[in-house]
Amino acid sequence: MGKVLIIGAGGVGTVVAHKMASLPDVFSEIMLASRTKSKCDAIAERIGKDRIQTAQVDADNVPELVELINSFQPDIVVNVALPYQDLTIMDACLETKTAYLDTANYEPIDEAKFEYKWQWAYQERFKEAGITAILGCGFDPGVTSIFTAHAAKHHFDEIQYLDIVDCNGGDHGKAFATNFNPEINIREVTQKGKYWENGQWVETEPHEIHRPLNYPNIGARESYVIYHEELESLTKNFPSLKRARFWMTFGQEYLTHLRVIQNIGMAGIEPIMYEGKEIIPIQFLKAVLPDPGDLGENYTGETSIGCRIRGLKDGKEKTYYVYNNCKHQDAYNETGAQGVSYTTGVPATIGAMMYLQGLWKKPGVFNVEEFNPDPFMEQLNKLGLPWIEQHDVDIEL
Ligand code: NDP
Repeated sequence: MGKVLIIGAGGVGTVVAHKMASLPDVFSEIMLASRTKSKCDAIAERIGKDRIQTAQVDADNVPELVELINSFQPDIVVNVALPYQDLTIMDACLETKTAYLDTANYEPIDEAKFEYKWQWAYQERFKEAGITAILGCGFDPGVTSIFTAHAAKHHFDEIQYLDIVDCNGGDHGKAFATNFNPEINIREVTQKGKYWENGQWVETEPHEIHRPLNYPNIGARESYVIYHEELESLTKNFPSLKRARFWMTFGQEYLTHLRVIQNIGMAGIEPIMYEGKEIIPIQFLKAVLPDPGDLGENYTGETSIGCRIRGLKDGKEKTYYVYNNCKHQDAYNETGAQGVSYTTGVPATIGAMMYLQGLWKKPGVFNVEEFNPDPFMEQLNKLGLPWIEQHDVDIEL
């Protein structure tokens, strides 16, 4: 039994609040706080039964966060606001000696660059304070990292080649929309590609490497090598990896829109003057794009995300594929959010559960693959993200 403070009332926060509210034996008291309190109230009302308390907070402001944490006294803070708030929320957790969990690594607002170095720099301070920080506990990063840890623990003596494959085979019926926060999403997918090979990073032009890959229940989809944050921690925590890549599917329509958006400067993060007022193009773009939280109702199809691994077992080469498929409509029927929010919010809920049950509790700052994957994998099956594993199959890569 524990008290949890959720920060961020977007698509992912909606799912976390729903899932936690359905688990009263684990989450006895829940508070949902965000910049816009009315969004928290609407989610709490939909859940009903006074399960969720709500509050307004500016998570860029450490004293405000400290005041809220001190008044509610949670056992853990679950950060599902934006990556820009990671460090301020970690600062507030340190000051109040409260555990911390997030789903995306820190990114400075004025530089489209995400890296773990800023959060890993908190390691000694969290250790000294005797509190736990759990980093990257969504689906990717999160479940993909735990899938890798599970494979390394149970199925390989040495994992050598890792390909994380992320397919959204869904259709939301819009000409262009992103599945999570548009600003963060566009910053991520327009970056140069990068993967790990033979002890070093290899950089590519954006979307330079691509090929069709077959996804269970979906079929062949063009898949592109992009840089994704879990590659940084996985290559550090599994040094036997000779190569690690991340593949994501994009449709031609999506890529065309993205190219136009970039070419006309709408993905820019530098302020420009508009009618005497400073605006940031990508933030303006976010305001006119569909809200990812509203995509759920007419979203059909499913996501398929997993890890394809090659390595050695008992001196022989072995292949292994572990994945989850999630239907957008099932996610919507259960929580009112689409599949991408669902596949992020459920793992964040399970991570907080692991902490409260004392299974993932140690002083310091950790990526999820540094904890025991077994109880987490068990909960994925119970809480709506069942996984399937295949041994010695053609993994195409
Ligand atoms: P949304 O944009 O839908 O929601 C973000 C929420 O955070 C909004 O409610 C927003 O408030 C709130 N917020 C933003 N800034 C502040 C602030 N300064 N103080 C308080 N609240 C604030 O995003 P998503 O729900 O789609 O994504 C949430 C997080 O999940 C992101 O960090 C994203 O990168 C991560 N993610 C991780 C994935 C994974 O698999 N690991 C996959 C998908 C997402 P307001 O409503 O006022 O704007």
